Amino acid sequence: MYDVVIIGAGITGSFIAHELSKYQLQIAVIDKNADVANGATMANSAIVHSGHDPKPGTLKAKLNVRGNEMYERICKDLGVQFQRTSAFVAATSEEERRTLDLLYQQSLDRKIPVQYLTREEALQKEPNLSDEVQYVLELPTTGIIYPWEVTIALMEEAVLNGVELHLEELVEDVRPMENHPQSKDHRENYVQEMMDGRAKDMCYDIKTDKGSYQTRFVINAAGVYGDKIYQMVATQTNRDKFHISPRKGEYFVLDKLREPLVSRVIYPVPSAAGKGVLVVPTTHGNILLGPNSQVIQDKEGINNTSDALNYVKREVSKTVKNIPMDKIIRTFAGLRPTGDTGDFVIEEATDAPQFINVACIESPGLASAPAIAEYVMDTILADKLTLIEKKEYQRRTPILDPKKLSREERHALVQNNPQYGKIVCRCEQVTEGEILDAIHRPVGATTVKGVKKRVRPGMGRCQGGFCEPLVVDILARELGISPVEVRLDGADSVMLTEMTDAENQI
Ligand SMILES: Cc1cc2nc3c(=O)[nH]c(=O)nc-3n(C[C@H](O)[C@H](O)[C@H](O)COP(=O)(O)OP(=O)(O)OC[C@H]3O[C@@H](n4cnc5c(N)ncnc54)[C@H](O)[C@@H]3O)c2cc1C
Repeated sequence: MYDVVIIGAGITGSFIAHELSKYQLQIAVIDKNADVANGATMANSAIVHSGHDPKPGTLKAKLNVRGNEMYERICKDLGVQFQRTSAFVAATSEEERRTLDLLYQQSLDRKIPVQYLTREEALQKEPNLSDEVQYVLELPTTGIIYPWEVTIALMEEAVLNGVELHLEELVEDVRPMENHPQSKDHRENYVQEMMDGRAKDMCYDIKTDKGSYQTRFVINAAGVYGDKIYQMVATQTNRDKFHISPRKGEYFVLDKLREPLVSRVIYPVPSAAGKGVLVVPTTHGNILLGPNSQVIQDKEGINNTSDALNYVKREVSKTVKNIPMDKIIRTFAGLRPTGDTGDFVIEEATDAPQFINVACIESPGLASAPAIAEYVMDTILADKLTLIEKKEYQRRTPILDPKKLSREERHALVQNNPQYGKIVCRCEQVTEGEILDAIHRPVGATTVKGVKKRVRPGMGRCQGGFCEPLVVDILARELGISPVEVRLDGADSVMLTEMTDAENQI
């Protein structure tokens, strides 16, 4: 019997698991994917927004502002990157200027640092602003993170402190347990009894494609599938309480440039469709251009389309000029878990006591994630769970990056461990030592993409053309499997079909 089972190992589920791992509780996290951070958390703009633009009175507004305050400290404790880059909101007309005025006042109301810049002042800071930009609002508390790194580090620390992580396991059903009334009528009565305080503690049986879990609390942090998971327990009247439609966003990634194109996030003025198409520096020195915003039906539809990418190209040129489109090294797409309620849905379900929806977590979900975990703990779980802090809490050791060492330190490292002297990825200068660390630590990489997410071979100019076969070899050797069994990502993503006779003889 678990105290809490969390469905979903994106940034939301990982922050909650990390928070819960500080207490003496039995916790499990289940995710259908082969790695953590493979849903919306995998493909986004990676911005810790200041909280300037969510609608007043929403959870989005409250938790974004609080999340932004929390991030720096948390990233420091986890040993991961957080850069407070600042951001510009760039207006190109008098009409857009009126929206800037609203955002300015809204930021002041939320005590978010904000200032107007003249075009000249803005150009001093960002010389590549387009000639169309007339007015600029600066939001200095805006930051950027590396979402995979944060999520993996959170889960790593949670696992070090006793949380069980079950990957590649699909939740197929969630039911109140056998000893509780199963028929629909009985259930409705039972729910009423729970609400009146007449029934005992609730338990749930979670059925997956590999087994089952019994738990007192369920946290539904299943991203675009949050509505489907809730419908497994909802009474007929509540089944339509919220629906989630994936809202796709597509991007270009630019190679690292000799002279930075921009050094802070450049937003256009937001519209009903969202924050608009951005130019974003990444923590590793690349530039993201995107995303567009398109509601689709397919909850797995992360293909790129030429229409969307052409739209992104046109839109970014409205705020930034001199974009070197010949430096594009990759395109990708992500799906926002957009709900029809207009806000995050974070609450204990009224018809399923101890079943907690943390759903519709679209943007600013990343920026809000630490505050979402805090909110779930403080407003929902603290009254219902006995929270006894663990006496000893283990902190993770960050992955050692030789590039951050001095020449002397690097020399000593290689003397001690020659694997740090073997470069596997030339573009990103990744050594075999780092790859071994990524594979053998808690929540270690088991796939080529898992290695890439942790230490970046394949993220550079050649996109893995040189290093991918080497990573396949290392994974096969370290996991004790044949190269043919090494996967790019999930179950079906085999990379090699068979060994040649010559290879079999080696
Ligand atoms: C294009 C785009 C740009 C964005 N930009 C930003 C930004 O700059 N700043 C910001 O704050 N936010 C941004 N966001 C939003 C942010 O990425 C999300 O709010 C956040 O990642 C949601 O995290 P999550 O953990 O709730 O969901 P997810 O990361 O989607 O995780 C849900 C997990 O649940 C698992 N799951 C689902 N169903 C099942 C099942 N039946 N069984 C087992 N597991 C299951 C999935 O495999 C997945 O891993 C952006 C999103 C997109 C798509």
